[in-house]
Amino acid sequence: MEQPGGLYVVALWLPAPAVIQVGALGRIEFFHGSYFYIGSAARGLERRLARHKALRSKTLRWHIDYLRRKSRWEGAAAFPSDGGECLLARNVAAIMEGVVAYPRFGASDCRCAGHLVHAAISPAKALVRLRTMSAAMTPPDDGVVVDKLIPSSKGALTR
Ligand SMILES: [Zn+2]
Repeated sequence: MEQPGGLYVVALWLPAPAVIQVGALGRIEFFHGSYFYIGSAARGLERRLARHKALRSKTLRWHIDYLRRKSRWEGAAAFPSDGGECLLARNVAAIMEGVVAYPRFGASDCRCAGHLVHAAISPAKALVRLRTMSAAMTPPDDGVVVDKLIPSSKGALTR
């Protein structure tokens, strides 16, 4: 049986500033720091997160794939679908005291500012806030979320 879908936030750490070619968006200059990518999977949420984490795919399919190659995986959290990605992106920006990293990043199918948030927050603090946020938004009997966090693995820095 197919796994359920839902919204998710992937937390990444970019250790140094970088200019990265991001598909059709072109070359983007990224500051160093924490990045939060807000996405949705119609189904197979865990599989999607595993893909983002592993980056085994040679196909650069989503905008986030380009940034992912240059950054360190910090963790991910699942969220209920109500409200949609755009609202979740705004909430993440508020909670992380961050800003939309680049207009339209990850937001090809909607009209909001973008689904990538940049913040100066440390990865450790960010994960605490992400867990708190995820737990608060999910009914306890829903069975999704906090235990679906995929923690950072040692030496996960990708090139
Ligand atoms: Zn949006």
